[in-house]
Amino acid sequence: MPEVLKAPLIVEFPFTRSLGPVQSAFLTGLRERTVLGVRTGEGKVLVPPVEYDPVTAEEIRDLVEVGATGTVTTWAWNHEPRRGQPLDRPFAWVLVQLDGADTGLLHALDAPGPEAVRTGMRVRVRWAGERTGAITDIACFEPYESETRSQVAPHDGEFEDRVSGIVAPARLDYSYSPGRAQTRYINALADRRAVGERCPSCRKVYVPPRGACPTCGVATDEQVEVGPAGTVTTYCIVNIKAKNLDIEVPYVYAHIALDGADLALHGRIAGIPYDQVRMGLRVEPVWSEGGRWPDHYRPTGEPDADYDTYKELI
Ligand SMILES: [Zn+2]
Repeated sequence: MPEVLKAPLIVEFPFTRSLGPVQSAFLTGLRERTVLGVRTGEGKVLVPPVEYDPVTAEEIRDLVEVGATGTVTTWAWNHEPRRGQPLDRPFAWVLVQLDGADTGLLHALDAPGPEAVRTGMRVRVRWAGERTGAITDIACFEPYESETRSQVAPHDGEFEDRVSGIVAPARLDYSYSPGRAQTRYINALADRRAVGERCPSCRKVYVPPRGACPTCGVATDEQVEVGPAGTVTTYCIVNIKAKNLDIEVPYVYAHIALDGADLALHGRIAGIPYDQVRMGLRVEPVWSEGGRWPDHYRPTGEPDADYDTYKELI
């Protein structure tokens, strides 16, 4: 049994979102070193603020300013900070009830060690040097030995140049293993061969193989070489240019049933104007220099496949 493949995989994209009136006031307030909360119909002050009362679902617009000092209500020590976390050295995650608030705000507390942290300790906001209207405008909290508590004050939420949106980076950083069946498939692709697996029960050939037949629930281990040519079963015209992808739009992405396969795989179609691609078009793979999988598929020039030959594979 050859070694199962494994590779690092990073999925990363920026998530852009607009802010409603309350979040906009909250984040703009942080930029101006002001912490805002909302007061519910029952008189409770929620920080961070929400737009709807979690109990009654009533809309809330009653902004108030709370203190930049508060009390730790619970905490956990973070021994190994990860990429993108508030501090690059060990710190405590804390829930801080800011003076005047009835709820806890989750943030980081800069402390020398877990022995320096306790529930009930007093802390204050350490503001970031450069503030943009984001939760990171609070760099972290720091211990602050003072019993002086600020009062809640009404706030109209009016600021110049209010923040109306944020970009939240999302990143998944993990190690991916395709398993034994797809390892065989990928290794065969390195020799420019497409190898699927046949189900011993229903005789279907899966490409790429997953190691089991999803219909019969039995292992598939009979190797079957398919292709290299195939038939376009369905397709779409892509009009949105993807970042980091050096292909001009519009282009066509298709489901292709390789000859002998009972499952369509997907690939890009080129070598034909995008508006002439059609169901039934016969195609063959085109490999790029040193590529480990087909760069795209191009027409073979054969007559189109009869619909009945691929209708079960759409
Ligand atoms: Zn089966």
